[in-house]
Order: sequence, then structure tokens, then C-alpha cells
Amino acid sequence: MNKTIQTTCPYCGVGCGISAKVDDVHHRLNISGDTSHPANFGRLCSKGSALGETVELKGRLLQPQVYGRETSWTQALDLVADSFIRAIEKYGADAVAIYGSGQLLTEDYYVANKLMKGFIGSGNMDTNSRLCMSSSVAGHKRAFGSDTVPGCYDDFEQAEMIILIGSNAAWCHPVSFQRIRAAKEANPALKIVVIDPRRTASCDIADLHLALASGSDAALFNGLLHFLSEQNALDSAYIKTHTEGFAEALDVAGIDREQLADFCGLDKDDLQRFYDWFAGHKKVMSLYSQGINQSASGTDKVNAIINCHLATGSIGKPGCGPFSLTGQPNAMGGREVGGLSHQLAAHMDFSNADDIDRVARFWNTANIAQKPGYSAVDLFDAIYDGNIKAVWIMGTNPVVSLPNANKVKLALQRCEFVAVSDCIKDTDTTALAHVLLPAQGWSEKDGTVTNSERRISRQRALFKPAGSAKPDWWIITQVARRMGFEQAFHYQSPVEIFREHAALSGFENNGLRDFDISAFADMTRHDYDGLQPTQWPVNQAYPQGRARFFEDGQFFTESGKAQFIAVTPRRPVNLPDQTYPLILNTGRLRDQWHTMTRTAIAAQLNQHKPESFVEVHPVDAERYGLVANTLASIESLLGAMIARIQITGSQQQGSLFVPMHWTEQYASRGRMGALVNAVVDPLSKQPESKHTPVRIKAYQPAWQGFILSRRELSISDPDYWVKMKGEQVYRYELAGMTLPENWQAWAQQNLCDSAGGTAQWQEYQDAARGNYRAARIVNHQLESVVFIAAESALPERNWLLSLFTKIELEKAERMALLTGKPPLGVVDVGTIVCACFNVGELTIQNAIREQGLKTHQDVGVCLKAGTNCGSCVPEIKALL
Ligand code: SF4
Repeated sequence: MNKTIQTTCPYCGVGCGISAKVDDVHHRLNISGDTSHPANFGRLCSKGSALGETVELKGRLLQPQVYGRETSWTQALDLVADSFIRAIEKYGADAVAIYGSGQLLTEDYYVANKLMKGFIGSGNMDTNSRLCMSSSVAGHKRAFGSDTVPGCYDDFEQAEMIILIGSNAAWCHPVSFQRIRAAKEANPALKIVVIDPRRTASCDIADLHLALASGSDAALFNGLLHFLSEQNALDSAYIKTHTEGFAEALDVAGIDREQLADFCGLDKDDLQRFYDWFAGHKKVMSLYSQGINQSASGTDKVNAIINCHLATGSIGKPGCGPFSLTGQPNAMGGREVGGLSHQLAAHMDFSNADDIDRVARFWNTANIAQKPGYSAVDLFDAIYDGNIKAVWIMGTNPVVSLPNANKVKLALQRCEFVAVSDCIKDTDTTALAHVLLPAQGWSEKDGTVTNSERRISRQRALFKPAGSAKPDWWIITQVARRMGFEQAFHYQSPVEIFREHAALSGFENNGLRDFDISAFADMTRHDYDGLQPTQWPVNQAYPQGRARFFEDGQFFTESGKAQFIAVTPRRPVNLPDQTYPLILNTGRLRDQWHTMTRTAIAAQLNQHKPESFVEVHPVDAERYGLVANTLASIESLLGAMIARIQITGSQQQGSLFVPMHWTEQYASRGRMGALVNAVVDPLSKQPESKHTPVRIKAYQPAWQGFILSRRELSISDPDYWVKMKGEQVYRYELAGMTLPENWQAWAQQNLCDSAGGTAQWQEYQDAARGNYRAARIVNHQLESVVFIAAESALPERNWLLSLFTKIELEKAERMALLTGKPPLGVVDVGTIVCACFNVGELTIQNAIREQGLKTHQDVGVCLKAGTNCGSCVPEIKALL
């Protein structure tokens, strides 16, 4: 029976509400945006819209595994508990660790943290959120005395100026970006400034783009603080009444404007314009993300931004304030429960002895950890060094995402015991596990998440669990009980955990801590099931939640005043040199999420960028002899990867950009984490993922080619391969350093052993030029094609890909097959631009030309492209 369930998107920190029509019988979902959810009011981006495509059971981890063999839950849980107990008995509590994820629900996170810090007695619980926003946490704590996001999404419509700093929100937080775009369309006076070394899709709505030099953000905002002071644009009364440390912060902020422009690599007039605009507007929002956080001085950068808001009193009021855009759906929930290794729980941490005592009394434990544990990079170093003997990884893929990822891989290979909970069977990390624990996936889980604006939303189960998959909280609880902590882990359902979490937030709080949801401490199961999205705090003072903090100028520091931080700008730790002369920047794409374990299942999301690539400035391309659309090898001191070259002026000279997503499941040599230096911010311990010195050179294989196949293949030994799932087809991009003896034998070996039926084989070979092409047709349907070339260019893939959706090939199509080009009269759609409506670049170009379309709205009316999530609007505008 079909039913409609309100839930939350599991990807980014925007936290969009979803309305899912569930067809249990066919295991299908019809996804639309929840029009009543305040985070998105019905909008979804391409990733959220495609969630229905990601719930297939293929590839799921369905049964516990021990040493590669399927087993029972009892055996798997016994082994995890025994391994942890043995390691603790022999080496002490700090010899074990949990590495969690912003994909965990708050209830899962709470019990994992409680187990490690409260009962095992070690601080060794950290999370992949360390990689994405721990600099914001540290910056908030220094300035406000608490990890508080002061504002809310409603401020977008009320702002007079919005600054996007180190944030390509158009791709990484698309629904928030669309909301800002709409705010600007409704109020063209709204100024938008993008501060980013790259010209990204977010610049599409910018009045000003400051393409600053990598790592110079703190100097830029220090200069702004100084300028505000010079111009008497400060809120002196606010500074006096509500803050401390202004004089010291201002003292180190002064620098000659011309020198500053040079240091930041900016045009002096642009810099001046930005400063004038900031000084001239009362309602300014500073939205920042990984470009600020992922830095060896990320915390200082955060505070340099916050300083400017404190100096102008533009915080805690509608339409203004610093605003950290969190990466993951529940990064904020993880912060609430204490998922980072220096945190305890409920916004209490190890720096305060009273907090340790308070949490110990609440949990009724005598074994609570007394000090922070290892943070992510140090944690995997400790595994590598043999100091951690047993680790449990939950819902994340550190072999791909951590810096110096090859060392992380070695660390797990060396580790005595590795358990991994995941919903996906084959990842680069599950490959190294001794025990695999099948966790429920997004569509099966039940609990809560918190988004960037502190809004707690329900994630509700849509389907029954697949196979033997269990909720993470249940798995953790079962292990805890086996370790002897029965009493403290007696939960039967997530609502019991949520109630305890809520009660702890209010325990001896008395207004001393920002995070307080004690109004939920007694909530019934019925109320929990029906919980509507609510911004914390939710307590006696704010029973309906609270949109903004600090309206009253009261902060959570000892004095109650906000703290200016004197920031001395620092350059990134590792600078380019003769051997590694370029800077590698990493980031996300529009249609992929993290390590692609889910988004790569959705064919429509793979069309936008089907292969890993490296963006290179034209001058660098010329200097290093790089040709667009060929392959390049990128190397750092730590590792190497291969990617397709894209030459673009949006990239700064001297810098490269690669996406973070590709893993060994989808590419032979696409893991960017292998290159990234493991330098961290000294305060937040967040890695500097956007600044690694590298070199680049053309990768010149003996042959290149591609295979399109209706079935998934295992292709023999190409040096370079990338796999992508399309609509009824798998696409393989290939390259090799050695030529096979016989192309026909190679092709038949790779393509011919999988399909039944009556097969026809078409073939073309030009041995002198190294060209080989073949096609296999089974029962009139295209089964596979292979195109190989030594020198000449390969044909575009789009038309060939489209043939796999046909029940039967037409005669003209068969005849044109090995040319790789559509027969006369058939139009190739080109690379897909709009993933929501599957509209290609050539279709858009033709429509623009033939119908005289002038605006992206015209294109929308004509082709629907850009009218759903809007993420492709910048690309449509570029085509126009
Ligand atoms: Fe999901 Fe997209 Fe919304 Fe992020 S913006 S929560 S990915 S629908």
C-alpha cells in the first residue's frame, strides 16, 4: 500500500525536508520536497531529488561478516565486544577507538559517544566531521564560549549583503543557494560577494568575486576590521558593553591597504569596494564553509570573520551574523552529543572538570574519560604506530576521505582488529575490515538530525530494513551490553535515547549552556514520531525553539561577553617549491556526495561529471604541456592520482582543483586523499585539505578507449579505469601503458562471457593507427561497444549511451554504430547539464540558437532545464 512519509535528506547540512511516497510492494520511492519544512519549503537539489534511485538492494551489506564470511549477529557482536575487551585488558582503554560520521543519526552518535567516553573510559571517539567543520566549532567556542550558530536561514531574505567565503554553495548547499538567489531576485539591492580562489558556480549571482590568494582570508578580514575602525563604522557601544579584547584584535589587524591587496592577490579597487560595502550595510551575513575550515589556520580565519561582526554589532539580529554552513546532514547533531574527541556530551567538554563530573553523575559511571582522545588524523596515526589495537568505524570511508589516505590504508591493514558498520558492502574501508556490521540505510533509519541552522528534524523509516540490517544505535548498544554495561545501555528504541540526550542537555544547565532541549526530556513516543522541525534550544524559556542567539548581547563565556581574538595571519604550512610547484585544492561536485557510495548508484547523478578531473589554468596547461580532455598524473610528496584535464580560466594560475569523490570502487587511481598533506590546524585539528603542493604532467598511455556495457564487467588489467553507472548501461573509461597482443581477443574476453541469447558481433580495426572498435548486439539490443584509439580522438559517448535505453536498434543505428556518431537526422543531446530533467548541453545550445532564447528562464520554459533544483542555472547561463 502506498503511504506518504515526511523525512529528511541524508546529504548536506541544509537539512531539507522530504515527502516520500512509499511503494512497499515494488520497493520504490517517489520523492518530492516537503513544502512545510522550513529548511527548503519544498525545494530539493539534484541529489535530494534522486534519492528514490538510491534505495536498491544491489550493493547493500545485508548480513554480518567475520573475516569475509557471512555469520550471525550474535557471533559478529561477540567478536567486536571480545576484541575490544581483550585490547583494553592488555593495553588499556586508550588502545581502542571509534571513528564515527556525520551520517549517523543523533541517537546513534549519542550511544557511541557514551560507550567510549563514559564507560570504556577513553576519549578516543572522533568523527569525520573533524574534516569538515571543527574549525568552526573551535572558532565559536573562542568567541562565544559555546559552539553556537547565531542565526538562521530566514536571515537570507532579511540581509542587505551576503558574503560567501570559501563556499561554493551553488553546488555544496544548493537549496540554500537557491534561496539566496531568490532573495536577490526579489531584492536586487541585496549585495552578494563571493570570496574564493576559484570562480565557482556560486559567482553566478555575485556582484563581486574576490579571487583571493589561497590562505589569505584571515588577512583580508583583519584588514576589514582595521578599515571599519578607520571609518568609524564600528558599533562602539556594542563593543564596550558586550565584548572583550577589541583593542588587542585591532592592534594586530593593521596593514597597509596596498600591501594587503598584494598579499591577498586582489585588485586594490575590488578590495576597497568590498570594505566599503561591508561598512555601508547594517545587515551583513558571512556564510562560510570548507574553504575557511579546511586550513591549518582555520580557527583563526573563523575568528577573523567573527571579529568583524562583533565590531559592528551585526550578530544576533535579523539578517546578519557569521554563519557556518555545515557539510553533513548531522554534523550539528554530532556536535550536540560530543562526537569530536575533545567534547564530552551536550556541549560539555574535557576542558572543564565540572563538566566531566556532571556527565559522570548523569550517566552514573565511575569510569568516565578524563581527557580528550585522538582527533581524526592523530587517531589513524596512532593505529599506524600500533598504539590503537582495535578500531570501530561507523558509516564513513576514511581510506578515501582522510589526508595521507595511503597511510590510513596501511594503518588499517596493520591494525589488529577493525570493525566497520556500514550499509554498503564494498567500499575502500570495508575491504579492510575483520568484521562487517550491516547498518540500516537512509530509507530504513529512524531518529533525528540537526541542520546548519540548529533545526532538529526527524528522519523516518520508509521501508523495512534490508536483509539483517540493524540501526546503528542497536548495534552499539548490543556491543556495550556484551562489554558489561548492560544497565547503561538498556534502550529499546531511539526515542528512549533521544529523551536521555534531551535530559542531559538540561541537567544542571540553568542557562549556562547554549544547547538545551530539555523540553523534550519527557516526550512520548507519539510526540517523537510526530516531531516537527524545531530549532534548539527547546526548553522552558523557548518552548517553541529559538531562531537566533545573542539578541541580548549575552554570551556563554565566563564574563558573559563575546571575545575578540587577536589573529596573526599565517600562510599555509607547506608551500609550493621547485619539485612541487602547484597548489592542489579539493572540493565537492554538484551531483555527487562524499565517497559516492550512494549517489553513484543513481544513473542521473553520474551524467554531470562522469569521470574524475583536474582543473588547470590555461597558462599552467601550456607550461606543463597539458591538453584538454587527455589524462594527467598529479603527484604530491605522499601519493599520486590520474584525472582528465579540464582547462579553465576559473582556476587560478599555480593552482589545481580535483573533486574529492572518487574511490577505488569507481576509479583505479582517482583517490585525491592519497595526495593531501596531513597538516592540521593546531586548535581545531582540522586538516588543511585545500592546500597541498603538487606537480602535474601529461599521462601518456599506449592506448585509450572506452567500453559501454549493459552488464557490469570486470575488465582485465587496464592501468587506468573509471566506472560509471548510466541508464541501463555501465561506462568504463580506460587507458593502458601496454598494448594487448590481439585487440579482438581482448575485446571478446572482456565483453562476451556474460550475455545469453543470439549475439552478433560487429568489428572494425585500423591496426596501423591503433584503432579498434567492436559492438555486440544480443536479440536486437545493443549489449556492449568498445572503442580503442592509440592516437586519434575517441567519439563522444552520449549518443552511444542513449542506444542502451532502446528495446531494439534501428537499421540506421546499427550501421552508424562503429562510427560512434548518430545517423543523419538524429541529434546528439550532448553532456547532461540538467540532471533533474536529463537535458544535455547540445539540446540547450540548439534551442538557444534556433529559438532565440535569451535568459535561463527562457530555457526553463522551453526545455524545463534549470526549473527544479536550479543547480544547473550557472551552466545554462554560461551556454547563453
Ligand atoms: Fe539534500 Fe540537496 Fe537539500 Fe542538501 S540541498 S539537504 S543535498 S536536497
